[in-house]
Amino acid sequence: MLELEHLAFYDHHAHGLYHEPLWRTAPLEAYFTEAYDPHILQRFVPDTLFYRRSLRDLSELYGCDPNADALREVRAGVDYPALCRDLFQRANIQHLLLDDGFWPDRLWSVAQARERLPLPVQRVVRIESELELLLPHHDAPGTLLDALEQVLREAGRSAAGFKSIIAYRTGLAVEPPTPAALERGFRQDRERGGRVQDKALLDAALLRGLQVATDLGLPVQFHTGYGDPDLDMRLASPLHLRGVIETPAFRDLQVVLLHCYPYVREAGYLASVYRGVYLDLGLTIPYTSVSAMQTALHEALHLSPISKLLISTDAQRTPELYWLAARWARRTIGAVLSQTVALGDLTKAEADWAASRLLWDNAVELYRAPVAEEQASHTP
Ligand SMILES: [Zn+2]
Repeated sequence: MLELEHLAFYDHHAHGLYHEPLWRTAPLEAYFTEAYDPHILQRFVPDTLFYRRSLRDLSELYGCDPNADALREVRAGVDYPALCRDLFQRANIQHLLLDDGFWPDRLWSVAQARERLPLPVQRVVRIESELELLLPHHDAPGTLLDALEQVLREAGRSAAGFKSIIAYRTGLAVEPPTPAALERGFRQDRERGGRVQDKALLDAALLRGLQVATDLGLPVQFHTGYGDPDLDMRLASPLHLRGVIETPAFRDLQVVLLHCYPYVREAGYLASVYRGVYLDLGLTIPYTSVSAMQTALHEALHLSPISKLLISTDAQRTPELYWLAARWARRTIGAVLSQTVALGDLTKAEADWAASRLLWDNAVELYRAPVAEEQASHTP
């Protein structure tokens, strides 16, 4: 088994931490599931392998008995800002990209994370969030899309990349809408207010965002595969993205397929035949069983080049999730790469190289480096 504790982790997909009062009152169970249903949280989450394994991990971390009551007691007494700094250091996460489009009122902003965490933090711009902020201020789809383009061009000057959650809304089978469908969708979403739900409008906005990303040379992350029950998982298979990937205008676009479970083989296939496609196993690690995490990494490597596979935490809300995800990312990579050596796919030296590629080098090469003022504002 390769030991990887010393290797720095570039976490290329995560979200912010809870503001302290929310962290103090949030139920422990909610961190270990994608479900919202209170009955699932209370009755069934404690019966998952992820929850049971994590209780033991966290009790080891805090030095308490491995049960939820003992954990609640010890967590109630901790210094939250110190815990956040400490767990990022223990996780040896040395670079962080934050998608700040999730729960912006409940989680730290990118600027707050930059002030409070001991590492460089960069923003990933969620295209659909920018669209939703602009929608109430426009009365025609043309001016809305032009304004979106302008916002993305401006934000893209310093962002590490863009992100799309269109898989959560209307699925990955994105196509240019007809003008009539776009007009109709725009009117409906504008009247309804809040979250944009119309496929024509979402597709048009995404295509505009992809054009900006292509022009700026920025990668675009796509949520794919499993996630919370907002999504129709049939439409979240990355195979639906073929239309986008094959569009001649996007030939130089780099697309990162996030999470991928259970479509890991499909994602690995796409990475093996399309130059711009990369894949990630965040969320799959650590939200599944030890066996599933190892299987997913093996399946990604069935076809994907090592240099196109990335790992993220997809952590949010509590610093414990970053630490758990980093711990199991290293353990999974260590176990699977050792097996590839035993089976004859890689030499020991090649496995060491592969571990660095997965944890750090692939992300460094793919994403935009911090601009000068961001580096200056980072005080370790
Ligand atoms: Zn995420």
